[in-house]
Amino acid sequence: MVEAQRHLESSLLVEAAAVDASIAPDLLEAVQAVCQKLETPSPAVFVLPRSDLNAFCFLKEGADLEDRLVVCLHSALVREMSRDALRFVVGHEVGHFVLGHHNRQTSLNLGKTGFQPEEADAVRLGELSADRVGLLCVGSVNSAYAGMMQLASGLPVADIESAASSLLEQLRQLEGRPEALLNSAARHPPIPLRVRNLLMFSMTDEFREESGAGSGSLSIKDCNDVVIRSYLKLFGQLGMVTKDLDRFIFWCTLMLFAKDGRLTRPEQDYLADLYGEEKRDSALRYLQSHAASIKAALEEKIVSAAAPLRSFGIQYEAKVLVSLKRASEVNPQSSRGIEGLRDMVRTLLIRDL
Ligand SMILES: [Zn+2]
Repeated sequence: MVEAQRHLESSLLVEAAAVDASIAPDLLEAVQAVCQKLETPSPAVFVLPRSDLNAFCFLKEGADLEDRLVVCLHSALVREMSRDALRFVVGHEVGHFVLGHHNRQTSLNLGKTGFQPEEADAVRLGELSADRVGLLCVGSVNSAYAGMMQLASGLPVADIESAASSLLEQLRQLEGRPEALLNSAARHPPIPLRVRNLLMFSMTDEFREESGAGSGSLSIKDCNDVVIRSYLKLFGQLGMVTKDLDRFIFWCTLMLFAKDGRLTRPEQDYLADLYGEEKRDSALRYLQSHAASIKAALEEKIVSAAAPLRSFGIQYEAKVLVSLKRASEVNPQSSRGIEGLRDMVRTLLIRDL
């Protein structure tokens, strides 16, 4: 991790500019306002010359936690966003620090693939929390929406309320498509969900009292319930599909490994690494008890594991084949079996299309 931080820090020194009020007065003002509100020391602020709207933060090396926060914004964002929208974005970034998200360095942060679903959930929910901090920093839901809408469309938005309601309609459509986020490794939840999170949080006592707008109409618990329900509609089904897919790949892998009727030590270790020791042991028991007709028994398992995946069709094929290819590297003997298995996967997954 330290290495990744060091790398990021070096690349900013090479590619970006540390800014002060003479370069980006609005940005510096936003940073000051946010730090005052959140009672945190000022971070180092960098701007990267980039045309997409993005911002990120990280901790640089150093002994004192308070001096290590770095916030970096892409130049397009600084140029195009209003003061309030900038304050929202900076509040989101410093919010990560205030909420202690730097203690939870995950493989996702490092841009690796293959993260665990629980880890991805924690990261995405952390983004929603950081948005709430951003909202507290601007004090008005419309300012936060303005920033969010610019992130969604790349354009400044004239009629904020109508843009927000069309994003909420977009969320309803997304909720009806569990496959939409199937291969999403994105750390941020989709913007329509982030907008709903802002809307809900803006109605709570916590937000309204903090921003001096009197008492709210929603308890924080009800607010969280609505947001989590919506999150699960998008990502919970993703988790379910991922589980089905994992099961399917597990049986295909076993078919690949068990062609010679046994599991070598490296194959056993591979299964244990990927699925846990319990699953490895049950694979061993399964092979033993079906020794006489292992091929037919595994075929049957694969066919039934494919059933829940079929309505989503062929989009799984690549993912399955990549996993099997990786598995076949464990034992060079088994790579010969992959062709036959590929045909089977293809037939099973596209049959209902
Ligand atoms: Zn974030």
